[in-house]
Amino acid sequence: MAKTVIIGGVAGGASCAARLRRLDEKMEITVLEKGNYISFANCGLPYYVSGVIGAQSALLLQSPEMMKARFNIEVRVNNEVTAIDRENRLVKVTDANGTEYSENYDYLVIATGSSPLRPGIEGIDSEKIRTIWNVNDAAAIRMLADDEKIENVCVVGGGFIGLEMAENLHAAGKKVTIAEASNQIMNNLDYEMSLIVSNEIRKKGIDLYVNDGVSRFADTGEEVIVELASGRKISSDLVILAIGVRPNSKLAKDAGLEVNRRGGIIVDEYLRTSDPNIYAVGDVIEVRDYISGEKTMIPLAGPANKQGRMAADNIAGFENRYPGTMGTSIAKVFDLTAASTGKNEKTLIAAGLQKGKDYETITISANSHAMYYPGGVPMMIKVIFDLNTEEILGSQIVGSQGTDKRIDVIATAMKYKGRITDLKELELAYAPPFSSAKDPVNMAGYVGENVVKGLAAFARYDELETDREALCLDVREVMEVERFAIPGALNIPLGTLRDNLDRVDRNRKIIVMCAAGVRAHTASRILKNNGFENVKIYPGGVRFYRLTH
Ligand code: FAD
Repeated sequence: MAKTVIIGGVAGGASCAARLRRLDEKMEITVLEKGNYISFANCGLPYYVSGVIGAQSALLLQSPEMMKARFNIEVRVNNEVTAIDRENRLVKVTDANGTEYSENYDYLVIATGSSPLRPGIEGIDSEKIRTIWNVNDAAAIRMLADDEKIENVCVVGGGFIGLEMAENLHAAGKKVTIAEASNQIMNNLDYEMSLIVSNEIRKKGIDLYVNDGVSRFADTGEEVIVELASGRKISSDLVILAIGVRPNSKLAKDAGLEVNRRGGIIVDEYLRTSDPNIYAVGDVIEVRDYISGEKTMIPLAGPANKQGRMAADNIAGFENRYPGTMGTSIAKVFDLTAASTGKNEKTLIAAGLQKGKDYETITISANSHAMYYPGGVPMMIKVIFDLNTEEILGSQIVGSQGTDKRIDVIATAMKYKGRITDLKELELAYAPPFSSAKDPVNMAGYVGENVVKGLAAFARYDELETDREALCLDVREVMEVERFAIPGALNIPLGTLRDNLDRVDRNRKIIVMCAAGVRAHTASRILKNNGFENVKIYPGGVRFYRLTH
């Protein structure tokens, strides 16, 4: 009887174990987990801190007893694997009492995940500086959050975990400050899209500092002073550190398995490591970027779960190849939803690609559902596509209601190598409470088609500032302009534009602005059809301008 040992019993490890049992009733399966819980909901931890998820038990999806009863899987919590002896196919384990023992395997699955970074910044060892990675971390932070004496919290890191923690600690009544070293939060988004999220956070009363990393922490006994590179000092009763993760690959490295520069275990398309009897899944592995084909690391729950299942298939002889990861992700940030998939524009620029030559982007503002049905809310959609093949390379959406479904539709199109123009053809469910007859995803396709055919061109969100020679032509009604005017813009309402073309300077670049982009497109066509050569549309109109300025 063959035996599989799985190291790590949460997302990837637990999925692997359950699938393996369903495929093979006879296989001996042992899961070794160094923590005291298996299969817990890591992604729910921030919501447990605020009490949105009330009971700790709601986070625990399986127990060792359930795994035994339902799957006949031996799960040992508080058992840490300390070494892999590949020659003898053994792992060395230390149990809860500190007793060491060996466990033999025919197949080994490494699903050890990643750990939060805790770099050697001065003062980082203070008890008041916490990371959140497991149920115990969350329980400890919740206790602190329940303590009324803890008033000021500094979250270091503006990624999705940092922002979720900021939101939940704010909900728990704390005064929250976020410090981020790079020039933007939510690095998965392009800068201008991230500004929408920063605005929202500040509107909620959170102090957000970007471009300002931590230079040192000083624990005074009463509080921690978080000192930023700028010299700013943030007095904090509690600090949450959420600045990224590193793969837990020491076991693999020590055993001589191939790892990449960042420590990610290198696997083939069957998720096999450089030792054919050892598989690895989840945050600890290097994956292929589904869009570019490059090697990368994408620590997310969806890929970890899928890889766990797939490794089980391969162990059980049901061949299954991992196609790569696109990095589709989503986060709730107060009243907003920010989601992305595939490549963002800054990674393309960093790779030496050029907008207008190699790729193009469209950014549109669309409503979650038909304007005439109450409750519709706007969302900004950015889609990036290859100019030669028209293939969609990535997308970002920031909105609220309906954001999740649009990013998932675009991610699905990308999975099947969809082109920007394919989006217009997707037949999506429509009734007024849910969408529009032309869904926002269809609209992105129409706009993309116009760009591909040379019928529309978009300005950058900051082009009015970077190109001082450009003329902003605002085609909104006078009443709208009275409420908010773009500095230096020429206002000619769309309905009067044909009669006023002589007021528009043909020799200048014209950037056409309206409320959301639709009237600007019509105006740009009027200009183009009347011989104006250099005409661009401001993406997402005044709505996007105000969110990014
Ligand atoms: P894990 O699920 O982390 O499991 C690894 C396990 O291995 C751990 O329990 C660890 O104790 C154990 N282990 C490590 N070394 C050993 C050893 N030597 N011996 C025995 N056991 C060992 N992803 C999303 O896609 N969406 C989200 O909304 C999201 N939210 C998140 C929120 C938080 C607060 C956190 C912490 C993560 C979140 N993630 C989210 C990321 C997601 O949880 C991870 O990508 C996913 O859990 C990775 O799965 P894994 O199996 O590789 O590792």
